[in-house]
Amino acid sequence: MTKIDDLKTPHFPSWCPGCGNLNIWSSFKNAAVQEGWDNGNSAIVAGIGCHGHIVNFMKMNSFEGLHGRALPVATGVKMVNHRLNVFVFTGDGDCFGEGGNHFIHACRRNHDLTVLIHDNTLYALTTGQTSPLSEHGFKTKSTPQGNPDEPFNPLALAIISGATFVARAYAGDMPKLTEIIVAANKHKGLSLIDILQPCVTFNKVCTHGYYRENTYYLEPDYDPTNKQKALDRAFEFGEKKIPLGIFYKSDKPSYEEQIPQIKDKPLVEMPLERASAVELFKKYT
Ligand code: SF4
Repeated sequence: MTKIDDLKTPHFPSWCPGCGNLNIWSSFKNAAVQEGWDNGNSAIVAGIGCHGHIVNFMKMNSFEGLHGRALPVATGVKMVNHRLNVFVFTGDGDCFGEGGNHFIHACRRNHDLTVLIHDNTLYALTTGQTSPLSEHGFKTKSTPQGNPDEPFNPLALAIISGATFVARAYAGDMPKLTEIIVAANKHKGLSLIDILQPCVTFNKVCTHGYYRENTYYLEPDYDPTNKQKALDRAFEFGEKKIPLGIFYKSDKPSYEEQIPQIKDKPLVEMPLERASAVELFKKYT
């Protein structure tokens, strides 16, 4: 059984007061206590950005990768020990800018990872520049006249790339976010949660108030197994109020389940065979 104190580190969060990262961190800890995730059975991987500081505030096996490289690191962790729950914390800039290519292929392969996007629609750590999820016309330090680019639709991109669990949550609704994190982890395959995360310092548009007024949950009878419907609802963003909840779910074997060499036990539990470089060279040439 995991207790909240088991997850504590000596470091107190350095995020700005009111930042949505605090809600995501707390919701994740609530989910960990509920599900018994701890240092013995779970690992977290983060990218670069304000979100990446989470590795300092969670007592769990953790790794902060290079910018945009959280997914390849997490993929490696999962391949070496697929019994671990592996959580990826990444920002909208980190995941869809520097890491865009990794995202598409992680979805395509359906790696069994839970990916939490801290989506504040800009690069916050570098003091507020346009990211691939910034709205067209959005004014930031890097686009003072307004963003000339159109944003990616992260949910639609995940669905068409092959992710098998796709959801959107709002950081300020912690009970619901906790519930979605738990559901995403229970799903076998790539689970994406796009979390609307207010950056109270650099984003004066997407505030807590804005999200409280402009979001709603998908209807109780919404069917997440209908791919076309899921895409239609994913594109509602920006036109009307923003839907939240689990948009898409499908049952498909994860990448790890299809690798016969790790079917019986994880790579990390297999004996190491030592061989000299000369022997290996002879064997494989
Ligand atoms: Fe949060 Fe923005 Fe402050 Fe970063 S700059 S800690 S995202 S409020």
